[in-house]
Amino acid sequence: MNQSQLAILGGEKVKSKPFGSGKRFGMEEAKELLEALEQNTLFYHFGNKVKQFLADFNAMYGVQYSVATSSGTAAIHVALGTAGVTVGDEVITSPITDQGTLIGILYQNAIPVFADLEPHTYNLDPASIEENITSKTKAILVVHLAGNPCDMDAIMDIAKKHNLKVIEDCAQSYLTTYKGRLVGTIGDYGCFSTNDFKHISTGDGGIVTVNSGDKEDYYRTHAFADKNYRRHDDSVEKDIEYLAPNYRMTELQGAVGIAQLKKLDWICKTRNTYGEQINKGLQGVPGVSPMEITEGGWGTYWFYMFRLNLDKLSCTREEFSAALEVEGIPNQPGYLPKVLYEIPMLKKQQAYVNSRFPFELSNPNYESGVCPVAEEILNTAIRISISEFYTEKDIEEVVDGIQKVADYYSR
Ligand SMILES: *Cc1c(COP(=O)(O)O)cnc(C)c1O
Repeated sequence: MNQSQLAILGGEKVKSKPFGSGKRFGMEEAKELLEALEQNTLFYHFGNKVKQFLADFNAMYGVQYSVATSSGTAAIHVALGTAGVTVGDEVITSPITDQGTLIGILYQNAIPVFADLEPHTYNLDPASIEENITSKTKAILVVHLAGNPCDMDAIMDIAKKHNLKVIEDCAQSYLTTYKGRLVGTIGDYGCFSTNDFKHISTGDGGIVTVNSGDKEDYYRTHAFADKNYRRHDDSVEKDIEYLAPNYRMTELQGAVGIAQLKKLDWICKTRNTYGEQINKGLQGVPGVSPMEITEGGWGTYWFYMFRLNLDKLSCTREEFSAALEVEGIPNQPGYLPKVLYEIPMLKKQQAYVNSRFPFELSNPNYESGVCPVAEEILNTAIRISISEFYTEKDIEEVVDGIQKVADYYSR
């Protein structure tokens, strides 16, 4: 392997056979959908599909209450709203995440504050969270990135000490565990996405777990996803005291969700096996730092991301990525093009046209350099897709490809 010429220089490529693929939807979903239509209603409160989907989810997660939403973004907004996040509050979160993590914060007219990350788990560094707490901080919105749990013991201790709410963004982390506990059940609320790119898909959709187990907390969460209508059992209360959006899930999504949930265990176990296989294979590869799963964690690898130690390689990250691509291993340099505080909306502190509200309430620091570790991660990372439909051989070849390119450029 070491001696072989890189494919980009005319050598033979490591991967010549296509990656394994498969169908994520089948007759199981179709049957549920047909039943949904036969109910003659697609409204979650009258039908049984969303209710069944949540009941199955609750059983799987060992929680008493959860609420369905129209997206993961919506789930996070609902959690924030129910947690009492309001105008001028600060919410501490990660600068490397989907945009959807931020949207609810800004729609509550609260201000995102970015804490720095751990260099190899790519998750929030508890020490940096604590440094960013001010008298305005209301909540910590943790992101379990790519199926890797955050250091929840340390984060929950900080939250307790400063009396903060903890919301878990689990959009990329189905069935991920931390010290034996499922992420999404540790903080006050756990938020999931069922958009078409996650472990399971209902087209779009989301779930919020209500971890207090308190019925009134559940009712408030439920209402916040449904215009603040209090719709339980046979009664509906429409005397609205505070603003809330309509983020309801439809019966069609619930129906697909029921069938998808049955596949989740297999999907997550397979991804864990493949992610661990890559992680093991990359130990000791020159110039490559594998992904680190947080201590006590069990990862479900929504993607696999490793970092290059460019001091030890005679190439740029882009050259490495291109060489790997030609070996037959598709990959992306980095994850987001920039950390979130560098996107124009935040850099210019302008979420609403012709207004600096709500940023003017807090004057947050969104200058480059605020989270140096996060910036360094994005500048040196290479991301590989993982699919439960890949074969073990595919994963072996991914490792061989990375090793071949690393060996070449480390000589
Ligand atoms: C996908 C994702 C979201 C948003 O979910 P949508 O269903 O697309 O709204 C939020 N946070 C993270 C980390 C995500 O990956």
